[in-house]
Amino acid sequence: MRIVAVDMDLCEGHGKCYLTAPDLLRPQDDAGRAEFFADPIDPADTVRFRRADGAVLGCPERALSWAEA
Ligand code: SF4
Repeated sequence: MRIVAVDMDLCEGHGKCYLTAPDLLRPQDDAGRAEFFADPIDPADTVRFRRADGAVLGCPERALSWAEA
Protein backbone atom coordinates (compact mmCIF):
# COMPACT_ATOMS: atom_id res chain seq x y z
CA MET A 1 0.00 0.00 0.00
CA ARG A 2 1.18 3.48 -0.79
CA ILE A 3 0.50 7.07 0.10
CA VAL A 4 1.45 10.31 -1.56
CA ALA A 5 3.97 12.25 0.51
CA VAL A 6 4.07 16.04 0.34
CA ASP A 7 7.36 17.86 0.77
CA MET A 8 6.19 20.97 2.58
CA ASP A 9 9.42 22.79 1.79
CA LEU A 10 8.77 22.42 -1.94
CA CYS A 11 4.98 22.80 -2.07
CA GLU A 12 3.98 26.24 -3.35
CA GLY A 13 0.26 25.74 -2.87
CA HIS A 14 -1.00 26.39 -6.34
CA GLY A 15 -3.34 23.45 -6.08
CA LYS A 16 -2.84 21.56 -9.30
CA CYS A 17 -2.68 18.29 -7.39
CA TYR A 18 -5.97 18.60 -5.56
CA LEU A 19 -7.72 19.68 -8.73
CA THR A 20 -6.35 16.53 -10.36
CA ALA A 21 -7.17 14.21 -7.44
CA PRO A 22 -9.68 15.91 -5.11
CA ASP A 23 -10.56 12.60 -3.46
CA LEU A 24 -6.93 12.10 -2.42
CA LEU A 25 -5.36 15.51 -1.84
CA ARG A 26 -6.63 18.77 -0.38
CA PRO A 27 -5.28 22.10 0.84
CA GLN A 28 -4.17 22.00 4.43
CA ASP A 29 -3.27 25.58 5.27
CA ASP A 30 -3.88 29.19 4.26
CA ALA A 31 -1.04 28.96 1.76
CA GLY A 32 -2.87 26.14 -0.01
CA ARG A 33 -0.16 23.61 0.59
CA ALA A 34 -1.34 20.09 -0.02
CA GLU A 35 -1.97 17.08 2.18
CA PHE A 36 -2.83 13.51 1.31
CA PHE A 37 -5.94 12.67 3.32
CA ALA A 38 -7.20 9.44 1.79
CA ASP A 39 -6.74 5.81 2.74
CA PRO A 40 -3.53 4.22 1.46
CA ILE A 41 -3.68 3.20 -2.17
CA ASP A 42 -3.33 -0.34 -3.42
CA PRO A 43 -1.43 -0.15 -6.75
CA ALA A 44 -3.82 -2.82 -8.01
CA ASP A 45 -6.60 -0.22 -7.69
CA THR A 46 -5.68 1.24 -11.03
CA VAL A 47 -8.28 4.01 -11.02
CA ARG A 48 -7.08 5.55 -7.76
CA PHE A 49 -3.45 4.75 -8.45
CA ARG A 50 -3.42 6.42 -11.86
CA ARG A 51 -5.21 9.49 -10.56
CA ALA A 52 -2.74 9.84 -7.71
CA ASP A 53 0.18 9.21 -10.04
CA GLY A 54 -1.12 11.94 -12.32
CA ALA A 55 -1.03 14.35 -9.38
CA VAL A 56 2.51 13.24 -8.46
CA LEU A 57 3.78 13.64 -12.01
CA GLY A 58 1.88 16.88 -12.55
CA CYS A 59 3.24 18.79 -9.57
CA PRO A 60 5.34 21.56 -11.09
CA GLU A 61 7.45 21.83 -7.93
CA ARG A 62 8.11 18.07 -7.67
CA ALA A 63 6.76 18.27 -4.14
CA LEU A 64 4.89 14.96 -4.35
CA SER A 65 6.31 11.48 -4.20
CA TRP A 66 5.13 7.96 -3.49
CA ALA A 67 5.83 6.45 -0.08
CA GLU A 68 5.12 3.06 1.44
CA ALA A 69 2.21 3.11 3.89
S1 SF4 B 1 0.66 20.80 -7.23
FE1 SF4 B 1 2.52 20.50 -6.01
S2 SF4 B 1 3.15 22.55 -5.38
FE2 SF4 B 1 1.00 22.67 -6.05
S3 SF4 B 1 -0.23 22.38 -4.17
FE3 SF4 B 1 0.05 20.37 -5.10
S4 SF4 B 1 1.89 19.53 -4.10
FE4 SF4 B 1 1.87 21.73 -3.73
